[in-house]
Amino acid sequence: MTDCLFCKIAAGDIPAQVVHRTDTTLAFRDINPAAPVHVLVIPFAHYPDLPALAQADAPLAGQVLATAAEVAKAEGLTAEGYRVIFNTGRHAGQEVRHVHAHVLGGAPLGPLLAR
Ligand code: 5GP
Ligand code: ZN
Repeated sequence: MTDCLFCKIAAGDIPAQVVHRTDTTLAFRDINPAAPVHVLVIPFAHYPDLPALAQADAPLAGQVLATAAEVAKAEGLTAEGYRVIFNTGRHAGQEVRHVHAHVLGGAPLGPLLAR
């Protein structure tokens, strides 16, 4: 996708602070972190959201999850815990239409939802 921000990051055309990379996935720090550790995990392949990815390539969806777990471990989040979020669609406030997992941790994260 030529006009997709995360495809451009995946291609190296837009710089990002990459923390982990596999053959199929890339993990990089969120530009506007919401927690002490805030890393985004994407598949290199473009899918707009989680249901599109899961339907088209379930093994790749699993690789995104495995990378999220690897990142959490590498960032030292395993002992105290962390949260993995896929914002999907309007009600969730999904801004970037290239599927991504948010890996959040490094401090108590508070309730699941702001009210
Ligand atoms: P969403 O709201 O789609 O679930 O999350 C998109 C995330 O991408 C946001 O947390 C936002 O801060 C992050 N983001 C937006 N633009 C950039 C960018 O150019 N570089 C990086 N590293 N993160 C970005
Ligand atoms: Zn994309």
